[in-house]
Amino acid sequence: MKRCLIWFRRDLRLQDNPALAAALGAGAEILPVYIHGENQVAQLSEGGASKWWLHHALSDLDSQLNELGANLHLIKTSAIDKALFALVQELNIDTVLWNRRYQPAAIELDQEIKKQLVDEGIKVKSFNASVLNEPHTISNKSGKPYQVFTPYWKCSRETEVPAPVEINLSSAQWAKAEGIALKDLGLLPEIDWDKAFYDNWEPTREGAVKRLKEFSKQSVSEYNDERDMMADDGTSKMSPYLHFGQIGVREIYHHLRNAGDEVMHGYIRQLYWRDFAHHLIYHFPHSVEKSLRPEYEQFPWSHSEEMVQRWRKGQTGYPVIDAAMRQLWQTGWMHNRARMVVGSFLVKHLLQDWQSGADWFWDTLVDADLPNNTMGWQWVAGCGADAAPYFRVFNPLLQAKKFDQEGEYVRKYLPELANIPGSAIHEPWELSEIELLAYGVKLGETYPARMIDLYEGRDRALEAYKEFKELNK
Ligand SMILES: Cc1cc2nc3c(=O)[nH]c(=O)nc-3n(C[C@H](O)[C@H](O)[C@H](O)COP(=O)(O)OP(=O)(O)OC[C@H]3O[C@@H](n4cnc5c(N)ncnc54)[C@H](O)[C@@H]3O)c2cc1C
Repeated sequence: MKRCLIWFRRDLRLQDNPALAAALGAGAEILPVYIHGENQVAQLSEGGASKWWLHHALSDLDSQLNELGANLHLIKTSAIDKALFALVQELNIDTVLWNRRYQPAAIELDQEIKKQLVDEGIKVKSFNASVLNEPHTISNKSGKPYQVFTPYWKCSRETEVPAPVEINLSSAQWAKAEGIALKDLGLLPEIDWDKAFYDNWEPTREGAVKRLKEFSKQSVSEYNDERDMMADDGTSKMSPYLHFGQIGVREIYHHLRNAGDEVMHGYIRQLYWRDFAHHLIYHFPHSVEKSLRPEYEQFPWSHSEEMVQRWRKGQTGYPVIDAAMRQLWQTGWMHNRARMVVGSFLVKHLLQDWQSGADWFWDTLVDADLPNNTMGWQWVAGCGADAAPYFRVFNPLLQAKKFDQEGEYVRKYLPELANIPGSAIHEPWELSEIELLAYGVKLGETYPARMIDLYEGRDRALEAYKEFKELNK
């Protein structure tokens, strides 16, 4: 290995990066490259909020490289394979290294590119940088992929998780080439809807490490008790950093592995849910676009654009749903409990297809992640692996009263209801005209009237699901 190209994708870090470690170990001259594909299939492109994050993550990676006397070579193209191949030839690259991806379309593309490069005599090597256990390494006793989390977890946690890869950059040698400027990737929005993102996130490697340290010092031991409280900062908010690979999941695992059983069975278990999502998407590639359980493709969704729009805009008339949808729009993130509640409301109470929810999350989440988003939505809709049973319909009012007892979460995102005290904020329709007047609320004007009756919606969903189950017995 004399001159090697490191193709960065969802591993935007210099630490714990096995592809980089291999190049350094071989003493090769290294060209760090990021290729932004235009007009790609949906799986390989980013939604608006993720593009924002990606811009900053690339800028940060480039700054870290600049400090070492290198830079991130950027390319924008509609033909990734051709662009990569042209660069390899132009710069006499003899080896291409990357860390593996697991989305079905990415696997296909990577295999194709590998074949083309190898046919031309270029060495290609790939590594695992983003999961605790790769999807193909875990199977049940009959050699089949798991579809239920608990046995999956039991099996996968028996495998020792390798320590993060040591990186020594002190004697690195770098190759350089003329690329395009970051702004020319066109990742930042033209209209500044992203203003609040800057107050909520530090989308850098330093931000990831800082957040992990804070979380492990202040919250991880209370994670099991606090993780469902929507107003609290009880979860790690590592999801966008993990998605873009600014921190490695093995780094997090090893940082916390000795924190005790409670952390292992609480927080670390969630990291295995993330692995499980990769496992599912790898073994059931059709589940990216269609329900994992194929019969659900025939489910009689009611397809109402108007309902979906009200849900997306946080105008349903149910404060906890609307607060969550506005949290998503304003900050690019939504609390996990809220994701389950708004998801259930969309697919069950409103009987809208899970894909219309998944698409909106894809566009608005900074942590939009194909494996996790697909598994999350299919769990909610009951059409995936280890999914919620069809009769589980979250009651948003009960959820709100349990996980946002004093209404703090709702008050934060729905200023038009903020004067309503305590948990009364969850049911403004129960207040008298005089109370509403005193709190400055006019239902149907300053805040929308409820778009459906909860009990009617629930009954309709149960009926539809039950009938569907009968038909598909
Ligand atoms: C409908 C729906 C859609 C979702 N879409 C996404 C998505 O696009 N991207 C995404 O990263 N997560 C998604 N999730 C999973 C989960 O909501 C988020 O990972 C979590 O809220 C991120 O916040 P956190 O980092 O503070 O999580 P923490 O509670 O601190 O958990 C730590 C990490 O574990 C992983 N994790 C936690 N919960 C889950 C879970 N239920 N499934 C898989 N991994 C999990 C995540 O990587 C997370 O960052 C979705 C869940 C649902 C119900």
